[in-house]
Amino acid sequence: MWALKPEQCRQWGPIPNVTPPIRVPCHIDAPCPECNRSLIGEQLKWQRMGPLAFARIGCKGCTTNVTFVIVDPTQPQSMPGKDPLVFQSPASQPAPLLPPRCAQVSPTAHLIAQQTLVAESLGLSELLGMGYRKALEFLIKDYLIDRQPDAADQIASRPLAQCLESAGSMGHQIREMGKRTAWVANDLTHYVRKRPGLDHTVVKTLLSITAKWIDFELETQELNDTIEHRP
Ligand SMILES: [Zn+2]
Repeated sequence: MWALKPEQCRQWGPIPNVTPPIRVPCHIDAPCPECNRSLIGEQLKWQRMGPLAFARIGCKGCTTNVTFVIVDPTQPQSMPGKDPLVFQSPASQPAPLLPPRCAQVSPTAHLIAQQTLVAESLGLSELLGMGYRKALEFLIKDYLIDRQPDAADQIASRPLAQCLESAGSMGHQIREMGKRTAWVANDLTHYVRKRPGLDHTVVKTLLSITAKWIDFELETQELNDTIEHRP
């Protein structure tokens, strides 16, 4: 199940002939989870079944059946501006958080980041700082090991903070953005927080920026290698 964002659920209105009235969205602005074709052109025909309302449409691009579900659509907050969550199955895959070069250097960091995005879509906000923090550690260590394969064992067993402090092993921006990602993410796990105004969205942004700087360095290295080999 995949929780859709409120802005993806369009044209809320009542299901015809259902009492008490239940508000549901007529259109969903989401891509088909299989072929990525937009589903927004399909009008949803909702049905009530006990505590659920559900609608099913077939993608015209690949015939995949996509189901949308609202749990307890009669709950008090089901009113304009406070609509209930709409869940989708099968789930769409979130767009990758890490650039392709980073995913290639660290497939595990890519996997963890994508799993954390799924957790975010399900509203599991308390877990996200830990997820993005773990993705950062794998990304930084795999990047360092890619640069210094002979030191793989030492890098793997070294604390993340030491990896980020090791001068000369990575660019200044990677080190500074990586340290800030770890600071805010670690703070999210503490009972008493030093930075209560910063949440997982900041960690996600910092991780994304750290990965972009790594991507710049990897692309720069690729170009340097190419140019050096020319006569
Ligand atoms: Zn499709």
